[in-house]
Amino acid sequence: MYTSESTKYPHTAEIGQRSRILVVEDEELIREMLVLALEEEGYGVVTATDGRLAVEYLKSYEPNSGELSFDLVILDLMLPHINGLDICRLIRYQGNPVPILILSAKGSETDRVLGLEVGADDYLTKPFSMRELVARCRALLRRQRLSCLPQLPVLQYKDVTLYPQECRVLVRGQEVNLSPKEFRLLELFMSYARRVWSREQLLDQVWGPDFVGDSKTVDVHIRWLREKLEIDPSRPEYIVTVRGFGYRFG
Ligand code: CA
Repeated sequence: MYTSESTKYPHTAEIGQRSRILVVEDEELIREMLVLALEEEGYGVVTATDGRLAVEYLKSYEPNSGELSFDLVILDLMLPHINGLDICRLIRYQGNPVPILILSAKGSETDRVLGLEVGADDYLTKPFSMRELVARCRALLRRQRLSCLPQLPVLQYKDVTLYPQECRVLVRGQEVNLSPKEFRLLELFMSYARRVWSREQLLDQVWGPDFVGDSKTVDVHIRWLREKLEIDPSRPEYIVTVRGFGYRFG
């Protein structure tokens, strides 16, 4: 019955780079209002009028395939064929991390809790304002984008730990304050432990090719960095001078 419907399946190319939202709602009026409001916001919207169709749209999800997936699912609870809670369970069972916003006429605390327990991210009780709905969608999509940013690995060598995302450095368990250039220099060194860098290469990487100045700048920053890292800056064990070449870390 719904096989002909599934030919309407959305293709990424049709919708382009816009966020794609799957709206699962059997009440026509609400569905139309949702589509209008979301398209107005610039989102690509695909609708499913019952639970089976929604499952059809969602079942081909494969982790990392990036195909036929949605950036957000708006899910009514009371649906023909398969109810919203079961769809929600199924999405999570597949390992699909798509944000889910549940819409329901039921406003009771148990339904809200149940919805969140089966893996929904947010819950809105009917009747709701479209402004409220759009704001919730925006927040969920923003959160989703942030969680998709690659996590930079923490760098560690002996007693020095560098947290790239937080711009923090711990030396023997103590937080040290580094200037942005010192931080960048240390991050570069720690990313390529034991690699030998010439002063020119370091200038290029940390100060940029447009920097006007001489390579003594590097020596000065290395001295400052050593004072912050080394137990004995005159006998460095972290930032080592390689005579005739430059510096290396470790
Ligand atoms: Ca319904």
